[in-house]
Amino acid sequence: HYRCRSAFKLLEIDDKFRVLRPGLSVLDCGAAPGAWSQVAVERVNALGTDPAVPTGFVLGVDLLRISPLEGAVFLSQTDIADPSTLRAIQSQLPLGKADVILSDMAPNATGIKELDHQKLIRLCLGLLDISQSILNPKGAMLCKFWDGSEARVLQSRLKEQFQDVRTIKPQASRKDSAESYYLARLYRGK
Ligand code: SAM
Repeated sequence: HYRCRSAFKLLEIDDKFRVLRPGLSVLDCGAAPGAWSQVAVERVNALGTDPAVPTGFVLGVDLLRISPLEGAVFLSQTDIADPSTLRAIQSQLPLGKADVILSDMAPNATGIKELDHQKLIRLCLGLLDISQSILNPKGAMLCKFWDGSEARVLQSRLKEQFQDVRTIKPQASRKDSAESYYLARLYRGK
């Protein structure tokens, strides 16, 4: 019932690291078509399906249109790199804050490996800047990157801001792809 196979990557990562817990607020960047948001809605109990645990919140953002999903709020046709987007995100999140930031964002690939790599790293670095305004202390960030020369720059920036940073290559990622994820936990706060 997931909108995209990418759901299985997030399920695999979350089964291992338990980032998405009931009651948490999640920002899902690059959310279209919405599979990660589906997983997040279930795991944070955004619909209040389980009355025994706290109810969470899911906000998805994408350049593309995202079909409505029960339990999630979407900002469609929204560029995470646009300076006005931070305000829009803050106004949708409960108290303007998130506990978890997910990014499965991917720019349109040119096929030039190094260029695509750099574009995605830049996108992640921009998101990291935004995270300083919205991420709760001890929060977590999971972001996709394509391996290449500047991955270290992103990794060291994450290490400055989070106590625990690890690199994850999910089984569910195609073996031939250069994609990996950084999971950064325990945000130090400003
Ligand atoms: N995680 C999604 C899911 O499970 O349904 C799949 C995400 S797809 C691999 C990558 C998405 O990143 C695309 O929908 C693309 O439009 C989005 N994206 C790329 N650059 C973006 C940007 N600057 N702002 C917002 N979304 C962006």
